[in-house]
Amino acid sequence: MTGTLYIVATPIGNLEDITFRAVRILGQVDLIAAEDTRHSLKLLNHLNISKPLTSYFDHNQQFKGERVLHALRQGKSVALISDAGTPCVSDPGYQLVRDAVAEGIPVIPIPGACAAVTALAGSGLPSDCFTFAGFPPSRQGKRRTFLAGMAGLPGTLVLYEAPHRLEATLDDIRQVLGERQVAVGRELTKIYEEFVRGTVSEVMAVVAQGKVRGEVVILVAPGEPVQQEDEPLSEVLRRLLDDEQLSVKDAARKAAEITGSSRNDAYAKALQLRNGADM
Ligand code: SAM
Repeated sequence: MTGTLYIVATPIGNLEDITFRAVRILGQVDLIAAEDTRHSLKLLNHLNISKPLTSYFDHNQQFKGERVLHALRQGKSVALISDAGTPCVSDPGYQLVRDAVAEGIPVIPIPGACAAVTALAGSGLPSDCFTFAGFPPSRQGKRRTFLAGMAGLPGTLVLYEAPHRLEATLDDIRQVLGERQVAVGRELTKIYEEFVRGTVSEVMAVVAQGKVRGEVVILVAPGEPVQQEDEPLSEVLRRLLDDEQLSVKDAARKAAEITGSSRNDAYAKALQLRNGADM
């Protein structure tokens, strides 16, 4: 009999935000796998839980799940936790869950805090349909292409961002997605918790004063359907033609794939841009 892998959500700031069930499971398992054992030790000490700890990560680094899988195969129960919030959400976990599932090891998620959902709930932006897209690329060119690919989505776009890139990413959102309503949720569940809401320019003006520090989630309201098609297509084409130096034909084909526009529209627009008609 194999053990069970529990994917346990922990607080995103306020230590009260952990469920009774999560505390019980953490107290019962044979092993706790943590993204950063020193960081997690603080939470476990706070909860009066003393368990064997092992470090685990798969995020941007080599997969380190073998030790955990070995314990599970031997019948031990393991809880996976990350530094904050729900494992697997812009945090390690996916590869371990994938491999456990492939081996027929039971996987039980224990729900709890998640910054994306917490921010969405308090944003005041449409919450019936949303896309969580994690962290945008850190380089401007790739970030703009990434945002252009999100332009036609029907619901609110939810992004994580490092605080020092907040201003640049908001600027790209304005350039690529237009002057939409946005909300920035910062330091959620913590002492300086706040939302800054408004158009992208209004929020950027607040951010420029240096008042939005700490961890942030960016939420972008869906765009007007009419604006959605044309603007991002042009942006994507500009990048493919100017930055990536693709031919009109190749740029049109790629832009159509990225934005969902028809190839004919993309080709016509690419020609316009190349001829300088729409620059
Ligand atoms: N797994 C986590 C979750 O469930 O939300 C997310 C981990 S990800 C590495 C960290 C990012 O989440 C931060 O850069 C920030 O964008 C967001 N975040 C985490 N805690 C937050 C908080 N208290 N307030 C605002 N954003 C937060």
